[in-house]
Amino acid sequence: MASFTYLSEDYLEKILSELEDYQISHGSLLKIPRGWTDSELPMAIARPIGISIIPTPFPRQQFEHALNIQALFNELYMNIAEDDLWFQPIVQNLGEVDEFASKLWSIWERVRDEGELQQIRCGIFRSDYMLHGGSQDRSAAPTQLTWAGSELRQVEFNTYSCAGGVHSNIVTNMHRYIASKGIHKAARVPTNNAIRSIVEGLVCAHRAYDPPANSTRQTAILMTVQPNNANICDERPIEYALSECETPVSLYRVEFSGEILQRCNLGPNRELLFHPSFGGEAVEISVIYQRAGYDSHEYDQHGIEARYMLERSRAIKCPTILSHIAGFKKIQQELTAPGVLERFLSPSAARILRQTFMLHYPVDESEMGIRAQDIISDEQAIENYVLKPSLEGGGHNVYGKDIPIFLGTIPRSQWSRFILMEMINPPLVHGVLISPIDTHMGPVVSELGVIGACLWQRNEPLKKGLSIIRNDASGWTFKTKPPDVQEMSVVKGYGCFDCPSLS
Ligand code: ADP
Ligand code: MG
Repeated sequence: MASFTYLSEDYLEKILSELEDYQISHGSLLKIPRGWTDSELPMAIARPIGISIIPTPFPRQQFEHALNIQALFNELYMNIAEDDLWFQPIVQNLGEVDEFASKLWSIWERVRDEGELQQIRCGIFRSDYMLHGGSQDRSAAPTQLTWAGSELRQVEFNTYSCAGGVHSNIVTNMHRYIASKGIHKAARVPTNNAIRSIVEGLVCAHRAYDPPANSTRQTAILMTVQPNNANICDERPIEYALSECETPVSLYRVEFSGEILQRCNLGPNRELLFHPSFGGEAVEISVIYQRAGYDSHEYDQHGIEARYMLERSRAIKCPTILSHIAGFKKIQQELTAPGVLERFLSPSAARILRQTFMLHYPVDESEMGIRAQDIISDEQAIENYVLKPSLEGGGHNVYGKDIPIFLGTIPRSQWSRFILMEMINPPLVHGVLISPIDTHMGPVVSELGVIGACLWQRNEPLKKGLSIIRNDASGWTFKTKPPDVQEMSVVKGYGCFDCPSLS
């Protein structure tokens, strides 16, 4: 059996050839959209996505703990998403300095004032973690690098447009396949049901949709997508898997936002009608699965109107606009304040989840905000923090000593757009990564994301609580990067898809 610790050139050549074939055969790829030029490969339509060459060590106990607590995190976010009274002051304050928050909240107010027609909601969530503590010695020999002594800490909780499930599922299967050849120890690589978990969650929502009494139309799921998306290999397999169900479910892709306005309209019962590009009858949309609409630049006037049409429709939203806002970093920071988790969960559940939290501060004039400002003006202390706006998709964070420099460029009155989060210091373990740009063999850090697929119904009045129809946590993502790289987005070229080798 080959040694993972020191990979010979010969071994690397062989395994790379195996991995390439697997990636090409299974769509572990990034598309090069038409019109984008890749000067070295002018005819290429895709390239392999960055992956690990061997699974990266991760503690089994922490892995299982992350999966076990996902149902509680799902429940927390289902509850938050229905508590607009709790939201209101937080988001309205944020909205004064954050145009994106303000736009989303205004859409919600219009929907709320008209009255929602649909009380069933769907969520495909992802809770991201890194290990914190343990060995940080970069000069240690690979065999001495270990996660021992580290614990699970939450990086963020994603409620909107969660990606990576398909890629992670494929890369896990790939490593299990390589293991079946005797190269890895198979038992150490857990199975990953990310695709099935997402698909079953969507099917469950689709079946729960109740069309208006006289409707005879075909129903289908609508997936909103960004134009020219390089990451179709993380989206299309969900559509294909839906078509392969015992009773197939159709999914239509629609670009956010122009195509939504062109191809969709509301019927007399606010049913969302979609007109396919190849003609024929309009279909009635059961579930809106959002894979676009998370970037602030998507919300010009067309974007606002498109989102408003979707939100006020009768379709089940995956997720609703309130669930979307619930995933803001600002909400994550608010949840770390004493007693807040207990508003949504039992004290014992709150205690379990709180153990995964790092310190968070608002950057405002509150008592905690003043503490944050003290940290920001302390050259040494600030090294241990990251500054984040309430945005998704990677590339928005500011780290350590860059924070005061960055804040110096924006008016103080705008600082409350950001939250300050204590840095997670993951243990360094040994890994081998390959991306189109480089091969990395040496210390690495990983991020585990647990996927939750949920369906719930809001009961009116809300005092009666929610009815949870589905609360599933069976899939996950796992990404790994060299320790000096600060972001993790694989599509943007920072990290690599990977899977854990558990022990
Ligand atoms: P995004 O919504 O852009 O994904 P994240 O909060 O997940 O924002 O931050 C992006 C990346 O930055 C993470 O995947 C992680 O690699 C790194 N990061 C974020 N917060 C921390 C932290 N507190 N400590 C260490 N790294 C962090
Ligand atoms: Mg993230």
